[in-house]
Amino acid sequence: MRIGILGGTFNPIHTGHLVLAEEAREKLNLDKVILVPAYVPPHKNEEELAEPNDRFKMVELAIRGNPGFEVSSVEMDAKTTSYSVETLKAFKQKYGEEAKLFFLTGADSLGELYTWKEIDQIFKLSNFIVASRPGYDVSKVPNGVEHVTITSLEISSSLIRKKIKEGKSIRYLVPEPVREYIIARRLYK
Ligand code: ATP
Ligand code: MG
Repeated sequence: MRIGILGGTFNPIHTGHLVLAEEAREKLNLDKVILVPAYVPPHKNEEELAEPNDRFKMVELAIRGNPGFEVSSVEMDAKTTSYSVETLKAFKQKYGEEAKLFFLTGADSLGELYTWKEIDQIFKLSNFIVASRPGYDVSKVPNGVEHVTITSLEISSSLIRKKIKEGKSIRYLVPEPVREYIIARRLYK
């Protein structure tokens, strides 16, 4: 088994996340990609952080219909700050030593790698994949990091939240069921 793991705050999930997951799945020949919403994001101080169950639900809605995607509640269930190294250990446990884990991130993670808990352990447990992301340089990836080029989409959760606040449309930037969920739950107002 070749398993991709995409962690994130997903506040909210958007098309950029989904294209990253889908193109990485295809390019790296992955059997599936597991999206792992963070309970408390270790690297962010987020004022407009939606409830964990809302962020989880939006991921569920977003991946519906794609048999290559799954969502995991492993970090949500921990109900405490989750470190990627612990999450990877949990997936190793679940899928066994033979499973190959591909830890997927966008290029913005490169700048803050040194702040990650047990980054060398993360490298041992998984293939660390950095996907291109508009506005971030991938010309200097450190040793042990693999780079994949994906379709450039200049979409971020921050942009989505900003647009909602300004009363602007987020149609097509997020999957339609996610947009409807955000409206129904009055998120990010
Ligand atoms: P925020 O603006 O709140 O930081 P975000 O859009 O960066 O949100 P995260 O949940 O922080 O979303 O990102 C999860 C993962 O997806 C990270 O590894 C990030 O680099 C990657 N990612 C998010 N958006 C894109 C994108 N448009 N292109 C490539 N990678 C992306
Ligand atoms: Mg981010």
